[in-house]
Order: sequence, then structure tokens, then C-alpha cells
Amino acid sequence: MLDILAIAAHRDDVEQTCGGTLLVQQALGWTTGILDLTRGESGTRGSAAEREAEAIAAAQILRVSHREALDLPDGSLQNTLAARLKIAAVLRRLRPRVVILPYWQGRHPDHYTASTLGYEACFAAGLTRLDIPGEPHRPYKILYASLYADVRPTFVVDITPHIETRLLSLLAYRSQYGAQPTGAGLFVPEEDIRERTFATARHYGLLAGVRYAEPFVQKEVALATDLMHLPVASI
Ligand SMILES: [Zn+2]
Repeated sequence: MLDILAIAAHRDDVEQTCGGTLLVQQALGWTTGILDLTRGESGTRGSAAEREAEAIAAAQILRVSHREALDLPDGSLQNTLAARLKIAAVLRRLRPRVVILPYWQGRHPDHYTASTLGYEACFAAGLTRLDIPGEPHRPYKILYASLYADVRPTFVVDITPHIETRLLSLLAYRSQYGAQPTGAGLFVPEEDIRERTFATARHYGLLAGVRYAEPFVQKEVALATDLMHLPVASI
């Protein structure tokens, strides 16, 4: 049983898009978890076994209660019935109230496929007549981590106290981010990771008047009652 589950295509996606938010939620007392849909067997750098050890180390740094990876095809993720049922079975077992998915548009097909696939799995998990184990469960809230996408977020989460820890979780992926010749033209050099991730977080922080933040999109409208306590200054 979890309060908040982040689902992503690849190990290290969560660390880049919503790792700070998971740290904030954990500090608030909520239990958090990560479901990686693939195991990184098609990556340019590092074996699937190396990436598993790194993912476990990163999960400890992010203080999540649970992390697991499915065996969906890395690099050619497909929205199939079989894939939806695998994710739905995890959702029934972990029963999160909040699910964080990748944004539904992006450069990498695995990322936007994971978004639709994750959403449809959330729907399927709530169906009574479905041939998978567990009691039906549908998350109450689905949020989209939009850091990879060039879209205006619905809201941002202030991650200022956790920005250094989030960086450590990303650097736990030594096979991806350690300085090395393989894929040198494809990967951001280790020394640039800090500057790039902090600059992005600073950009989203500035939108809401805080130092560092992570962006999210929700499809629903926001509901308000007390206009006197709406955050973020207008002028
Ligand atoms: Zn990815």
C-alpha cells in the first residue's frame, strides 16, 4: 500500500522529472514508490543488472518505500493489453491514491507511450471484471510530470530543501552519468548535470516565486474556496 506512485518508462526518469517531489511528499509523511516500466536493456551505456543496482541506490536516496521494474521492452514500449494488465496488477497491489505519469507528448516515444499506457492501466485497474489478481482499485488523482515537455505547468512543487538530494539520486546512475567515452556525444557530461538540472529547477521555481521547483500538469480544473489563501503572487 502506497500513497503516491510515480510511473516512468526508464530507470532515472523519475529522478529527473519528479524525484524532488517524492522527497517533499515523504517529508510530509506520505509513503512513496516508483514503478519503472522497463529495465534498460537497450541503453547505450550500462547493463540491465548495473542499472538495477543503481536504481536501488537511487531509491534509497529518494527515500521511497517501494521500487520495482516491469520487463516491458526498453526502446520500443508499446501500449498493448498485456502491458496494461501488468501495470494494472501492480496498481491493485500497491493501491496508490496519487499516480504520477510522464507528460503525454515528448521527444522519446517510450515517454509519451508510458503516459497513455499508464493512464489506461489506471482505468483498467478499477474494472471489476478483469482477469488479473487483486481487488479493483483506481487512483483518485493522476498527475503528469512535464519537465521533459515544453509546456506550461498547471502547478509546480517547491523542492528547494531537497534539490541536492535529488541530484545525488541522479548521480547514483554511475553507468549513465559517470565520465566515460561510450556515448560521449549523446550524454550530458557529469560536470554539466548539476548546472543543467539546477537551472531547469530554477526556471520552474521562478514561475511560482520559489527557488527550485518541479513542474506538473493536471487535466482537471483546480478547485478553490478561500480566495485569500491562493498561493503565488500575480504582480
Ligand atoms: Zn527516459
